[in-house]
Amino acid sequence: MGDKSLMNTYGDRAATLVGGQGASLYDEKGKKYLDALSGIAVCGLGHSHPQLSLAISEQASKLMHCSNFFSIPSQQQLAKKLCQISGMTNVFFSNSGAEANEAAIKIARLHGNKKGIKLPTVLVMDNAFHGRTLATLTASGSRKIQAGFEPLVSGFVRGPFNDIESLRTIADNNPDICAVFVEPIQGEGGINLSSPDYLKQLRDLCDELDWLLMFDEVQTGNGRTGKYFYHQHSGVTPDVVTTAKGLGNGMPIGACLASGNAAHLMQPGNHGSTFGGNPLACSVALKVVELLECGDIYERATAIGDIIMQGLASELKDVEHVKDIRGCGCMIGVELTKPCKSLYTEALKQGLIINVTAESVIRLLPPMIMTDQEAHQVVSILAPLIKDFQ
Ligand SMILES: *Cc1c(COP(=O)(O)O)cnc(C)c1O
Repeated sequence: MGDKSLMNTYGDRAATLVGGQGASLYDEKGKKYLDALSGIAVCGLGHSHPQLSLAISEQASKLMHCSNFFSIPSQQQLAKKLCQISGMTNVFFSNSGAEANEAAIKIARLHGNKKGIKLPTVLVMDNAFHGRTLATLTASGSRKIQAGFEPLVSGFVRGPFNDIESLRTIADNNPDICAVFVEPIQGEGGINLSSPDYLKQLRDLCDELDWLLMFDEVQTGNGRTGKYFYHQHSGVTPDVVTTAKGLGNGMPIGACLASGNAAHLMQPGNHGSTFGGNPLACSVALKVVELLECGDIYERATAIGDIIMQGLASELKDVEHVKDIRGCGCMIGVELTKPCKSLYTEALKQGLIINVTAESVIRLLPPMIMTDQEAHQVVSILAPLIKDFQ
């Protein structure tokens, strides 16, 4: 089978995966891989989770879809659960992260228009990634993602990440700003963590200027960092938070959560989605959230992350081309001093699935159900590859 009939958006694919179990994946020749990527932060509960397979088949044999003309019990239950967890009050369901972010951007514009701002503007960050729709690629801070798609969407200004003083200067010069949209850990941008104070400073800035504080937790959410949402480590409450990736563990679903005034800006007819929040996606996501909330998944996310980060730190401490090792829970970056895309293929040969982002950052997003032994195995395969990398 070739890829000739597909648009070439993803380039050459490195392998063909046909099965998975826990933190293991299998290709069509039966070769086993250790998964330290989780399909890009999606399968946090691992592959072929029996309770999720059951939730899918049970719901699929009852009702997969009925449209949002009708009320959907699992959609209501999932919304309630996410609100209980996050302290938000209302949810809009989409099918992806980019769509969840579109909802957030539309809420920001409603907020700006309500305030009488003529051209409501959202403040976004350097090196941000918010998706591939026209508005979200405009909000993203990478020329590579935007190039060729001009004209971009108006209504965005950009500032540096983790630098509140610069944002204050930008605020002084832009009375049209009505919201700030931030990934509390930049994922695609290279696992850049916000400093503990930064999120609080953002909250203060938003309160002062009547801006909405909006967090993109598409990648950081759903337990990956050891709490349901990463911003919960800081105690800061946003007005809007989006998530997707790990919410369905592979079932496509996204969510835009809001609280306070931001929760009531959307009115009938303002927004919608044919598939968004359908019975199948919501009953599976509900099971995902229940599984995340019971047992010790958050503790395991932290433990797995610690094993990998400490293991790599000790193995690589004298390696000159290793610039930094950072992360939180099962979201880890190893920054080298040079581009290292080829490490991905090297690791694959050794039966380990990793990713390289922002040219020179090895990104690890292992499933939270990984065993200690598997976490040590990630280190023992990856450390020598990094050490020997030319
Ligand atoms: C992956 C990602 C998105 C886009 O999600 P899609 O489901 O691919 O549309 C948006 N924001 C962040 C932070 C992401 O990591």
